[in-house]
Amino acid sequence: MRYDLIIRNGHCILPWGEAKTDIGVISGRIASLNVPGHAEAAETIDATGLHVLPGLIDAHVHLRDPGKPEIESIPTGTKAAALGGVTTVFDMPNTNPSITSAEMLRWKQEYVSANSWIDFGFYVGATRENTTELGTLEQMEGVCAVKVFAGSSTGDLMIEDDAGIEAVMRHGHRRVAFHSEDEYRLQERRKQFHTGQPHDMHRIWRDEECAFLGTRRIMAIARKTRRPAHILHTSTAEELKYLQGFRDIATVEVLVNHLTQVAPDCYETLGALAVMNPPIRDRRHFDAAWQAVADGTIDVVSSDHAPHSLEAKAKPWPECPAGLTGVQTIVPVMLNHVNAGRLSLGRLVDLMSSGPARVYGLQAKGRIAAGYDADFTLVDMKARRTITNDWIVTPAGWTPFDGTDIQGWPVATIVRGNIVMRDDTITGTPIGQLACFTP
Ligand SMILES: [Zn+2]
Repeated sequence: MRYDLIIRNGHCILPWGEAKTDIGVISGRIASLNVPGHAEAAETIDATGLHVLPGLIDAHVHLRDPGKPEIESIPTGTKAAALGGVTTVFDMPNTNPSITSAEMLRWKQEYVSANSWIDFGFYVGATRENTTELGTLEQMEGVCAVKVFAGSSTGDLMIEDDAGIEAVMRHGHRRVAFHSEDEYRLQERRKQFHTGQPHDMHRIWRDEECAFLGTRRIMAIARKTRRPAHILHTSTAEELKYLQGFRDIATVEVLVNHLTQVAPDCYETLGALAVMNPPIRDRRHFDAAWQAVADGTIDVVSSDHAPHSLEAKAKPWPECPAGLTGVQTIVPVMLNHVNAGRLSLGRLVDLMSSGPARVYGLQAKGRIAAGYDADFTLVDMKARRTITNDWIVTPAGWTPFDGTDIQGWPVATIVRGNIVMRDDTITGTPIGQLACFTP
């Protein structure tokens, strides 16, 4: 038997535990988990001292393409992902124009197939105009889910009322992803604040009840319609506790920032570079998020990579746009948490590979097993580095983690047997394909 690629001597995180074994790849798929020593391959990677993880997925990014390629684009964003050890991204629909029609989905399918460095799924945005078509749109190739902005969006992408959300839930059958902050409460509370107040006001304005109320409303509609829902960027202790009562219909995402940064410190040191939605909150919520990592409440950890220019971020609060870069830094930051003893490497794989695959119905990814796509993230758990702005390839050019010391670093990104990144260098051509989902 001749292989296209063999990864030898790595500590592999298999679904049933960690094992030191040699993995063989043929035609982009995992062909063997126990390659004999004499087997030959076109390419062999010696992974001595490294851990071999199933390809890590960032299930929540905003690549600004089409619309703002000078901030981020699909080519630059997927390069950033590959440099950071991510093999697949799921991209949000609030671009300009937005991705809300069959026509735009077809455009994105073609564009992604020619320009992405890694595999790619994308959301279709729900609008009042396309609600009755969502059952068809969610079946199109590459679509990971319908995304509903129940709060905090602009233009036609917002559906903030119960009747509108229920109508979405009654068209189609796949899991629907929600930005769940309650728009009415956000607007009402906005009047209490004025331009130029400290950035820490962001979490006071968009308080716990904005998030919790939105999530309670969506869970009521999910129960009523028996449609599964995914609560994106869950940010409060209250929601995490509450969602435990909905495990039959709800899955849960938490962002790496909510597991890493704490208010008010983050606003004092980073100002607008800590402003995101839902906001980074105080230690009580940080502790609850880690408790929810430990007890299994959380299904997915993502970055919500949403770059803005430093110029835009320099505007006074709350005119500075909300959103941070993160797709290139999520894996190092999470590996550092593993080294700090906050979670195991197995739980990290659950949150960033098998978890996203389970939640979105992603086919043939999310585990190292025979026949699955040969997607791997190779990591050096001993490597020590410092995250710096000059490492960031997103054109916006900054990270809130600039200057952060990290132990644990991705050293290779392999997508269907193609080595896309090795030792900080992107190689080959944009071989990314559309991810496949259970209909
Ligand atoms: Zn987002």
